[in-house]
Amino acid sequence: MESALTARDRVGVQDFVLLENYNSEAAFIENLRRRFRENLVYTYIGSVLVSVNPYKELEIYSKQQMERYRGVSFYEISPHIYALSDNTYRAMRTERKDQCILISGESGAGKTEASKKILLYYAVTCPANDHMAALGDRLLQSNPVLEAFGNAKTLRNDNSSRFGKYMDVQFDFRGAPVGGHILNYLLEKSRVVHQNHGERNFHIFYQLLEGGDDDLLHRLDLDRNPQNYKYLVKGNCPRVSSISDKNNWKTVMKALSVIGFSDEEKLLNIIASVLHLGNTHFGEGEEGETHITTETQIRNLEKLLGVDGSALREALTHKKLTAKGEEMISPLNFEQAMSARDALAKAMYGRTFTWLVEKINQSLALKVNKGSSVIGLLDIYGFEVLQHNSFEQFCINYCNEKLQQLFIELTLRSEQEEYETEGIAWETVKYFDNKIICDLIEEKHKGIISILDEECLRPGETCDISFLEKLEGTLGGHPHFVTHKLANGKTRRVMSREEFRLLHYAGEVNYNVNGFMDKNNDLLNRNLKEVMCQSDNQILNHCFRREEVIDQKRPEMAATQFKNSLMKLMEILMSKEPSYVRCIKPNDAKQPGRFDEVLVRHQVKYLGLMENLRVRRAGFAYRRRFEAFLQRYKPLCPDTWPNWHGKLADGVSTLVNHLGYKAEEYKLGRSKIFIRFPKTLFTTEDALEAK
Ligand code: ADP
Ligand code: MG
Repeated sequence: MESALTARDRVGVQDFVLLENYNSEAAFIENLRRRFRENLVYTYIGSVLVSVNPYKELEIYSKQQMERYRGVSFYEISPHIYALSDNTYRAMRTERKDQCILISGESGAGKTEASKKILLYYAVTCPANDHMAALGDRLLQSNPVLEAFGNAKTLRNDNSSRFGKYMDVQFDFRGAPVGGHILNYLLEKSRVVHQNHGERNFHIFYQLLEGGDDDLLHRLDLDRNPQNYKYLVKGNCPRVSSISDKNNWKTVMKALSVIGFSDEEKLLNIIASVLHLGNTHFGEGEEGETHITTETQIRNLEKLLGVDGSALREALTHKKLTAKGEEMISPLNFEQAMSARDALAKAMYGRTFTWLVEKINQSLALKVNKGSSVIGLLDIYGFEVLQHNSFEQFCINYCNEKLQQLFIELTLRSEQEEYETEGIAWETVKYFDNKIICDLIEEKHKGIISILDEECLRPGETCDISFLEKLEGTLGGHPHFVTHKLANGKTRRVMSREEFRLLHYAGEVNYNVNGFMDKNNDLLNRNLKEVMCQSDNQILNHCFRREEVIDQKRPEMAATQFKNSLMKLMEILMSKEPSYVRCIKPNDAKQPGRFDEVLVRHQVKYLGLMENLRVRRAGFAYRRRFEAFLQRYKPLCPDTWPNWHGKLADGVSTLVNHLGYKAEEYKLGRSKIFIRFPKTLFTTEDALEAK
């Protein structure tokens, strides 16, 4: 039978460390392409799993396949997400150390699908817990709920997650899943009020209109046509061929009941209210004062949210200020009223989403439990470079810088540890340390986030351009920061006067400062908060707290909040043993069988895969435990065939001497053989094949 290693001409190598020319990006991509053509969507870089989205159902995820990978060592059979899942699980069991799996890649590359496959693998293969038989179910059912409220159709992915997610799965001392916990990051709230052409709002709105029964819609005073709702028409894309909103509605409602959710009514009141809010309109009086022209909407909101209609009317058209200790009411102009309304819609939706995650967490109930361990799953937005990059891309790419830093630190650490345990001298690896870019963004007082916060707090006339000027004043001369003015016309790409450029580890990105201050401020007028506090909808009560209105202290701004949540995430991840899944999208058309080389090359770069391979290959291409090595190659030497009876290390030594390995080609550690060049291994493989 053709072995995985000898079939390398046709199907490529199953581990990039075995590429002859590991510095060649072309060879790397050619290997990916060969494997993709053969429907081999998974390839390793050492212990990192690279995955290419097949955009079609492959027959490799069945229960039988799960069984095949159970308890089998990483390198023995073809690379698979199940192999990684199983390896991680076994490492947790045997080493009693918490693990995490970090999944990265750009939108549509297959991150969320990968995380679902991992969860499914554990739900199916792990022993069930008697008391908690339903936990696996609840873990799995949390997905459709989160996706309904947190995913949307975008140009790049019909089911794009618009939030970052970290999920802990907790296992008891017998290895049965017993609890879980989810942390969510930076929901794209702006989507609630605006969608780009060809995109949609969050799935739940369309599901409700399509799937809700007549009585429900009547109660919520909604009609079925999404085109009648201002918040749903911006993208001009009410239906998506790959999505059945009606079926998904049923799935979501069922999932909510599995999770043990009993507040559907209140939740749907809020969802419907967001739509009514979007249809709330304003008129301008002769003096420029603003009034509401859509009474039906206000009455609906009054009924569905249990708020006082006249208080709401006033809060949507006026602003409450405290000046010199005195409260003042000032009218909003037309534009201000529109943006106050949108801010309310975003706040209601965003906070409800956070509440929903809390509810799911209560149902998954992480236990304080001795002897239990955890596997964390991180499914978070990859490095993003769009035509127009704003505050959101800035946050996302900052997050990726942090993850890259973690990756460097942990990979080098584990390489070093392995060398140490094996008693082999450490060989230094040169790599680019991106700490300088992280500092540029997050450093206290002089990082970009600090400067942004300061500018947002500064009284008087401030605007996005004054923020940009502050950046130039403080950061001019930083090797990773450029603007039009600083570059003096010396950049390759033209920059506008409204942009700054960061030289990220993965490449250059221009950010347009328009909207940075507003998005960072994320302000909701105080009187709107007050109205929400008085709501008799318990979810809203929970989301809008009295203390927030009374407390005059400015809450943390958006970028700082995000920065702090990232710091916490880094701490969580640092305390665990990491594994990585790097997802690649083969084409922009979401089609099977198409491998767009330019697109793939970009991602190989953004994912830092070449750097990854270099670090991994710096010392040795290949390493294998003595017993595995002997087992495979013992037929090649009369002294080791059919069995070696002495010490394993001596057996391996006898074998490689017989094969004529030169001293510089390999090293023997305490339990593993390290082979420096792939060629050595291939020659041995060929000898085995010829036998
Ligand atoms: P991401 O989370 O990275 O944005 P998704 O995981 O949502 O991307 O994947 C986008 C789409 O690609 C999925 O809806 C599915 O159609 C397809 N897809 C992803 N991974 C696989 C896979 N392993 N097998 C088949 N189709 C996949
Ligand atoms: Mg996703």
